[in-house]
Amino acid sequence: MIIQQITVLGATGSIGVSTLDVVARHPERYRVFALTGNTKVSVLAEQCRKHQPKYAVVMDVETAEQLRGLLATFQSSAEVLVGTDALCAVSSDSQVDIVMAAIVGAAGLMPTLAAVNANKKVLLANKESLVMAGHLFMEALKASSSVLLPIDSEHNAIFQCLPQKTQDLSAVGVSKLLLSASGGPFRGWTVNQMRDVTPAQACAHPNWMMGSKISVDSATLMNKGLELIEACWLFDMHADQIEIVVHPQSIVHSLVQYIDGSVIAQLGNPDMRTPIAHALAWPERIDSGVKSLDLFDVSRLEFERPNIVDFPCLELACEAARVGLDAPAILNASNEIAVQAFLDERIGFTQIADVVKESMSSAIFSEPRSLLAVQESDTKARSLAAAYVLRIES
Ligand code: NAD
Ligand code: MG
Repeated sequence: MIIQQITVLGATGSIGVSTLDVVARHPERYRVFALTGNTKVSVLAEQCRKHQPKYAVVMDVETAEQLRGLLATFQSSAEVLVGTDALCAVSSDSQVDIVMAAIVGAAGLMPTLAAVNANKKVLLANKESLVMAGHLFMEALKASSSVLLPIDSEHNAIFQCLPQKTQDLSAVGVSKLLLSASGGPFRGWTVNQMRDVTPAQACAHPNWMMGSKISVDSATLMNKGLELIEACWLFDMHADQIEIVVHPQSIVHSLVQYIDGSVIAQLGNPDMRTPIAHALAWPERIDSGVKSLDLFDVSRLEFERPNIVDFPCLELACEAARVGLDAPAILNASNEIAVQAFLDERIGFTQIADVVKESMSSAIFSEPRSLLAVQESDTKARSLAAAYVLRIES
């Protein structure tokens, strides 16, 4: 078997750690080429000791110095590189076969695109890059020979429920995509009940262990809105062809409805190692370490409509999907600012939606024809959102 070389962007995060867990189960298939991280330097050093990558990338020189110090005692010969250019370099290096794009937020865009442009097999966890720059991202993908595989559990489920090598879903009789949502930790709560929730409460997801940003997004349902936009790009569908289905058990990861009345679903225990293993080995299948689903244990599967009144972030995202242009980029950037402000206890949980709404209503939308234009929209939205956070605080 030919060994494939993998770069894990965001190795120290929740998806990164799960990826390395799956990779370590298959030393005959995969070798780690590069690992990247931002702040958790000791975790990254430990990962370098275990996986012996050629490169380790961090975002600033002080962290790089700390990492070099740790690696010297860890018998790792990884070369430490710094900054976004280094992220792009380890994503596009000619020795790399697979890139796991698992940086959180807008910071993931440039290295993920670098991997696409370098014709890699790209495993996409970083949904924000598609939300921000979907049109340019998909154009780059079409112009390349890169293969893009979704890691987001819902999108990976939809991918698994579709015929292979499908370009046009209506041509194969798909009528609708049904996107599962757990409903998050505050399912069934009203806005008033959510006003004083803490970051710890918002991050305590009932079914999934995830990084703090996506956990808060799951609690506000913004995550589902971002995923709707992600699904529009990945599967070339309109927002009105995608229905969100709240399914509290997180066992049915999403479904595809066909014109003959068939609905095909993908089921499994809520563990990201399943979509990661699926995408890593696709079109083959490998062991992920996830225990198999016991339906008798689950016993009950429930489905309900989302509550858009008490969870306004979902509707804001749907609106951004309908508007198109740079509305999703503005939504994403203002949400990143609002979520960080909530995590820093500067604003309340329900004010996340207020910040996004304010940024969206004061923006003038335009077509982002270049990455520079996307970045300008992102920067502008961040400063609008940051100014609104300051107004809330005063
Ligand atoms: P996380 O916060 O646990 O990890 C994020 C990773 O990105 C870390 O390695 C961190 O060092 C790195 N990072 C953060 N800011 C950075 C920056 N400015 N520059 C470079 N690197 C930076 O997040 P996660 O839960 O692993 O999520 C990663 C991505 O995967 C997100 O886009 C998320 O939406 C998506 N995703 C996650 C899950 C999940 O179960 N965790 C599921 C579906 C999709
Ligand atoms: Mg998801």
